[in-house]
Amino acid sequence: MSLKKRIVSWYTLWTLFLMALIFLMFFAFSDAVSIRNLRSDIEGVLSDAADDVFFNNGIARFDELDEVEDGVYVFAFSLDGSLLFGRRSSPVESIAYQEGQRSLQIADRTWIVSDMMMDSFYLRTAASVSSVYAVFTSDYLPLLLIAPILVLISALGGYFIVKKAFRPLEDLIATASTIASGDDLNITLESSNTKEGKALSEAFNAMLSRLKTSFLREKEFSDDASHELRTPVAVIKAEAEYALSVIDDEKEVSESLSVIIKESDRMSRLIDSLLTLARADKGTIKINRKVFSLSELANTVSESMVEIAEEKGVNLTSSIETRINIFADEDMITRAMINLIDNAISYSKEKGRVEVILRKNDRKALIEVKDDGIGISEENQKRIFDRFFQVDKSRTSSSSGLGLAMVKEIASLNGGSVSVESRLEKGSVFTLTLPLSE
Ligand code: ADP
Repeated sequence: MSLKKRIVSWYTLWTLFLMALIFLMFFAFSDAVSIRNLRSDIEGVLSDAADDVFFNNGIARFDELDEVEDGVYVFAFSLDGSLLFGRRSSPVESIAYQEGQRSLQIADRTWIVSDMMMDSFYLRTAASVSSVYAVFTSDYLPLLLIAPILVLISALGGYFIVKKAFRPLEDLIATASTIASGDDLNITLESSNTKEGKALSEAFNAMLSRLKTSFLREKEFSDDASHELRTPVAVIKAEAEYALSVIDDEKEVSESLSVIIKESDRMSRLIDSLLTLARADKGTIKINRKVFSLSELANTVSESMVEIAEEKGVNLTSSIETRINIFADEDMITRAMINLIDNAISYSKEKGRVEVILRKNDRKALIEVKDDGIGISEENQKRIFDRFFQVDKSRTSSSSGLGLAMVKEIASLNGGSVSVESRLEKGSVFTLTLPLSE
């Protein structure tokens, strides 16, 4: 059974139950009120009858009385109990006198009887309670008959309300099915005019847009990865073929082999980076955190890169605060620092300067890698941490555009962050921020 039908059924049953309850309460209440009215009618008719009896020469006359007044029987009896006035053979005729009002069960009916002594005779008024029910049932029977119609109207109303309330959900199901049956992620859920419907469509559209971004990113990532891997493979193949064709020329063969080794190294680095990023995405990367001296690491890494910098005519200096310890994965931080310094050297100008600064600031360790190189435009600064992004693809053949994406991933895996400040033609400062150890 659909949820809609289920809700309408429950709702109708509940209405039915409430109606029955209201009717029962109404009946009970009306019944009590009717009996109370009957009791007071019996008393009223009795005292009216007493007023209407008149005496002619000491003999009581009942000419002014009616045998039945407002559904109440009126009788007059002599003191020995014989009927002086009133309808004969009534069930209450033979009952003995008793002053006041009482209820009596005669045959299968309840009677309310009231007697009043009047010196030489007594008056009696009586009415059967079942007559109240008779009046009552005839008055309220139509109400009982329209009850099913009311329930039907309420069920129909309920159905329309539920149908309207479920429309956003049905739209959602239809949209989700369209997406499931095709691959169009551009579909969005139209906003409905209820608060909940709006919240649902907004949440669904936000989820769709995130899915879309992540699908596109994934697709882009694998496209870029295959493209980047194809280049070194093509170079390796071409060089190997060339070496074969000049197999007797030792010099040429050795040059080709060097190219092959260089390209294999590049490919191996690329595969390493791809694996690390994929593991980080999946959450399966192993992080080997421990407390270590970042001051010592920064010194070692900077020193190890002085020579590479010199080869490129770049002056690499460092300004490192001592005794800065952090709790992080040392290998990862080493990789991140090498990446940043390597970039600073690569994108330096001739005879440029690169400075590695380590300092503390507000429970954080800051590693700044400063260069006076080509700089990065503001627009590109937003994208340089994206995977495979390169400002100028033709500039460096050994790079892949994964370095900064890795640095960003490493920073976040170790509870830190990385940022850049740069001006075109003036230089850049990359800052890696990491939490200090406790
Ligand atoms: P790549 O392997 O190309 O260096 P990265 O992810 O390390 O990849 O860097 C992405 C891009 O950011 C680079 O291609 C380069 O255009 C730019 N970039 C990175 N570091 C610097 C820097 N210090 N100065 C200027 N541009 C930089």
